[in-house]
Amino acid sequence: MTYLFNNPAQFAGELVEGFVAAHRNTIQRVNGGVIRRHKAKPGQAVMIIGGGSGHYPAFGGFVGQGLAHGAALGNVFAAPSAQQICHVAQAVNAGGGILFCYANYAGDVLNFEQAQAQLRAQGIDVRSVVVTDDIASAAVAEQHKRRGIAGTLPVFKAAAVAADAGKPLDEVARIATAAKERVRSLGVAFSGCTLPGANKPLFEVASGKMEVGMGIHGEPGLYRVDAPSADGLAEMLVEKLLAEIPPPVDSPAGARVGVILNGLGAVKYEELFVIYRKIDQLLFRRGLIIVEPVVDELITSFDMAGVSLTLFWLNDELEQTWIAAADTPAFHRGTIVPAEQSEENITVAVQPAQDQQLLKTGSADSQAAAKVVFAALEAARDAIALQQEELGRLDAIAGDGDHGIGMQRGLTAAVEAAKAALDAQAGSGAVLTVAGDAWSDRAGGTSGMLWGVVLRNLGNALGDEAKPDVAMLATGVTAALEAVVSLGKAQLNDKTLVDVLYPFSAALTQGAVRGLSTTEAWTAAAEIAERSAEATKNLTPKIGRARPHAEKSIGTPDPGAVSMALIICAADKVIRKYCF
Ligand code: ADP
Ligand code: MG
Repeated sequence: MTYLFNNPAQFAGELVEGFVAAHRNTIQRVNGGVIRRHKAKPGQAVMIIGGGSGHYPAFGGFVGQGLAHGAALGNVFAAPSAQQICHVAQAVNAGGGILFCYANYAGDVLNFEQAQAQLRAQGIDVRSVVVTDDIASAAVAEQHKRRGIAGTLPVFKAAAVAADAGKPLDEVARIATAAKERVRSLGVAFSGCTLPGANKPLFEVASGKMEVGMGIHGEPGLYRVDAPSADGLAEMLVEKLLAEIPPPVDSPAGARVGVILNGLGAVKYEELFVIYRKIDQLLFRRGLIIVEPVVDELITSFDMAGVSLTLFWLNDELEQTWIAAADTPAFHRGTIVPAEQSEENITVAVQPAQDQQLLKTGSADSQAAAKVVFAALEAARDAIALQQEELGRLDAIAGDGDHGIGMQRGLTAAVEAAKAALDAQAGSGAVLTVAGDAWSDRAGGTSGMLWGVVLRNLGNALGDEAKPDVAMLATGVTAALEAVVSLGKAQLNDKTLVDVLYPFSAALTQGAVRGLSTTEAWTAAAEIAERSAEATKNLTPKIGRARPHAEKSIGTPDPGAVSMALIICAADKVIRKYCF
């Protein structure tokens, strides 16, 4: 139902442009996201948040005094890339270190971790606190696997208040961690959402039904029931949240809690107040003391109809951060001392040099190979375009439905960047490297980040001098596999693209050892890749977005495995044509 858009591919960028135009006095746009217009104090720690677009006010709406210093904003429902996160971090860095604070989704974790590693390598102290408040997404014993939803706000607030009070980064991270350990949420949905330009909803909930525990990207809920009345819903949410009181709080009686009733997009404020009326009564009856409740839209999912309830179990320290004043485009509390308005206090957004490394000219052999690489990337892009909808469908069964769109976005960017490098007479290694950078930067998400890693490792192995042979390709694919496993931590049979990359790499290496030609070895390995992708349908996902709904995915192959096999097979056709 998101009716108004121009080019759907530009939607996320255009919404940021409009958001910044509407808040020029306090917000500035930088590469990768938005930051506060006014500088942090020299030497203080700063706090960066971020995530996909389509959840406003999360995340750009929470940038400002009393809340985040900057937000990295990904594409629609896709994590920001590591490059975007680094740009935002560099723009607000005040010399006292940086705290990353974000919700627990595989794509966000991978990209923030990658950004953290890159910034640390530049000598910047970076810590991360990952919010895991959604009690429906994993059992209490596996809290680290839980997703983050509206409980992000109290954690962001705790971190930001500590940072702006001039506390050292260690303290900021400690307070944010304490907040995260005391926040619990549960959401329900009555309808799905439709992304800009899509002709059907990304996911749906049958009319008259309510899905308990559904995620903000349509990750399926735990179970479905008939939609209750407003009071019935309040009772269910309160009962389930009071069944999981975080230690050391031992009883609801006398406990002080921050309460958030969050609308997911299509629920009217009037309806929220009707539900909140009952929540207030129920919590009062159980002896809880409600502190500064928030009934609002905080983390949405386009036009999804649904709500979530969050309880933030306070102690004295956290209560101070929860009630502290804030003034951001979407969240206001109390009276804040306005930032100094002098010109010197305004952040001069230094646009990081466009990541255009000076490309070394490749040798004649390597330039010839670069043409094959480019043709393979184009073939991959076309193969994915044909299967885009199907890949989205596979991902929607237990994940969030964005795999086809994300792959297409990444490959389109990769082909564009590869073309520019080819025209600049780069060798095959450099062409793969810039294509990988462009892919991960523009696709975001888990697979975008991992494909960036795959291409960069392959590029590294091929280099820009030698004529690539099967041994170099096998070395590159093996290095890519090792890097993907080290970053994503997926094992064989966890139902991810590793289930294709692993046997593909083994087969290519075997071909090289047996002295096969590149074409022979790649073709044989591509057949194995295709079979391995198909075989993932029997597996149960153990990692990534699909894990909480493992049983729903049995019988369906893993989307990332399928797209990887499609790309390997598209490359196979090109390699056979060039016969190298
Ligand atoms: P997201 O999960 O962020 O929405 P995509 O939908 O683009 O990203 O990609 C999903 C695919 O990514 C999965 O089908 C799986 O193959 C792959 N994937 C997810 N998590 C991991 C991981 N930790 N390691 C390797 N591959 C992963
Ligand atoms: Mg996905």
